[in-house]
Parts: sequence; C-alpha cells; structure tokens
Amino acid sequence: MAVPYRRKSRAQSRAHRAANLKYSPTRFTSCKHCGEPKRPHYACGSCGAYNGRQVRERVEY
Ligand SMILES: [Zn+2]
Repeated sequence: MAVPYRRKSRAQSRAHRAANLKYSPTRFTSCKHCGEPKRPHYACGSCGAYNGRQVRERVEY
C-alpha cells in the first residue's frame, strides 16, 4: 500500500478542503398544495401541507 511521502501541512489540507468542499445552497421546491417555495422534506411554511395533506397549522416563519 502506498504511504504518503510527507505529511501535508494543516494549511495545505485546509486549502484543499476549502477548494473541494463546496456546500450546496438550500434548495427549494414548490408546494404542491399552494405553490409556494418550500424546503424539501419539510412541511410547507405557508399552508402546512406535506405529501398532499395538512400536517400542521398555518405558521408564519
Ligand atoms: Zn403550501
């Protein structure tokens, strides 16, 4: 098994990580119930629907 010739410096590994670890922005999907943008896997923020049914009261946040 190949072994690294020299340990990478902390700055090197951090720079590499920063260059390669792009975090993805929070994506939004539209609510099937009211069409408002909502976060996936979350109940809709404006109508409280999830998977075609009402799961929560209308809460503004
Ligand atoms: Zn909705």
